[in-house]
Amino acid sequence: MSIVVTGATGLLGNLVIQHLLKKVPANQIIASVRNIEKASELEKVGVEVRYGDYMDLESMKKSFDGASKVLFISSPDVDDTLRVRQHATVVQAARDAGVKQIAYTGYAFAEESKLPLALVHMATEYAIRTTGIPYTFLRNALYTEVFVNPALGGAIESGELITNTGTGVLNAVNRNDLAFAAATALTEEGHENKTYNLVHPEPWSFDELAQVLSDFSGKHVVHRTVSYDETKDYLVNIGLSEPIAELSAVIYHAVSEGETSKTTNDLQNLIGTPTPLKESVKQALQAE
Ligand code: NAP
Repeated sequence: MSIVVTGATGLLGNLVIQHLLKKVPANQIIASVRNIEKASELEKVGVEVRYGDYMDLESMKKSFDGASKVLFISSPDVDDTLRVRQHATVVQAARDAGVKQIAYTGYAFAEESKLPLALVHMATEYAIRTTGIPYTFLRNALYTEVFVNPALGGAIESGELITNTGTGVLNAVNRNDLAFAAATALTEEGHENKTYNLVHPEPWSFDELAQVLSDFSGKHVVHRTVSYDETKDYLVNIGLSEPIAELSAVIYHAVSEGETSKTTNDLQNLIGTPTPLKESVKQALQAE
């Protein structure tokens, strides 16, 4: 059995390989990457590194050669139309290479989402279905790290966490837990033709996050919820680029409307209890 992981030089892909190394011998793991040099650490631990670019069908086909399973990690490109084309290329390559199972990192509850990125993930799931290859849809939550990161140090300093999330809650999950779930689904039996919405069973609000920051720092931090435009201006003022500030405000708005409130047991069934908010805050602020 051999498992190919695409996007293996990325944050999620690298974590998946670390979890796979605890479950199967290194010589059963293949990293498909567009930058071979960036994967030198993987090669050192015995993982085979192959060149594959989502823009190039032949290279993807070669990188899947002889593989029984592929973990296809979605492209990070910001152009969603281009992403659909890249993803169709990867899916076609998997079909032509005769892969026996495709696991794909999609987006939780994509069919109900109001975020444009969900369309890419739905399109990709349908593309995979056209091949008839047994699939495992690992529909990832938004990453906890998008919201809980060293930048929270600024909120502690100012005593204010400013968003337009209102009272909305977040079922976010950290990359390491999602990577563990992917490695489990790839190495256990019984995950063919399954769709998992990998969300946190205990969603938290930004009011709760402010409380955790207060407890952690010993300083009083409050969550102040403001309008979409005020959030965007605030984020630009603290140094985010215009497009990232806009994307953050769009995501916060979706959170306020319930986009990230639903829970499932899918993640727990694969990995047990995921990392609690308190622990994620501790990890983010200690990494500062
Ligand atoms: P990441 O660190 O940016 O990793 C993306 C990986 O995709 C990298 O290995 C990158 O290669 C590779 N890649 C980019 N373009 C490629 C191409 N044309 N051909 C082959 N490989 C290509 O992202 P991540 O944190 O691991 O997350 C994985 C994916 O989840 C992202 O790509 C994105 O689709 C999605 N995402 C999810 C969330 C969320 O909150 N759930 C947030 C952000 C992104 P290089 O190392 O050479 O650049």
